[in-house]
Amino acid sequence: MQEATLILIKPDGLKKSLTGNILTRLSETKLEIVAAKIVRVSRELAEAHYAHLKNEPFFPELIKYIQGELHDRRKVMALIYWGEEAIVKCRRLAGVTNPEQAESTTIRGAYGRITTSGLYENVVHVSANRVDAEREIKLWFMPDEIIVDLFPTKEIIKSHLRLRIWV
Ligand code: UDP
Ligand code: MG
Repeated sequence: MQEATLILIKPDGLKKSLTGNILTRLSETKLEIVAAKIVRVSRELAEAHYAHLKNEPFFPELIKYIQGELHDRRKVMALIYWGEEAIVKCRRLAGVTNPEQAESTTIRGAYGRITTSGLYENVVHVSANRVDAEREIKLWFMPDEIIVDLFPTKEIIKSHLRLRIWV
């Protein structure tokens, strides 16, 4: 069954110049990249993405982390990988959440660390299951930014939309 998964190269991954490395590892899956962009993460997006963790003691630090405030890199790279068993394939390559427990052959095991305050800086985000993947993809991407139709869409006409265009 074809499915899609959201991958984020988190600010620590960008700061450590791991983008090429991570994309090479992910290419082993033979999945297709169907969307990609660099995102400046707003507080709203950060809090929505990690809404399931909002009662955790590390939540404020986690929001700073994904917004890039801990690494002086206010951006993440967001991609959607698509194909057979995309979620489990990417999750397996990424490794488990705790980078100390992740196998050293995985991305998190190889490049992640735990900060002195206990936060897991684990280099990548990878959707954990289908429900998470759909929710996260819809948060991070608009339908027209993705080259395949993943989920049902509808058309609307917005008349007072303010846009910036090239001069
Ligand atoms: N996290 C953490 N400590 C924890 C659990 C999570 O620092 O005890 C951070 C870590 O960066 C993780 C993110 O919060 O990637 C989201 O947590 P989740 O449980 O969704 O794990 P994931 O899906 O990223 O493996
Ligand atoms: Mg998760």
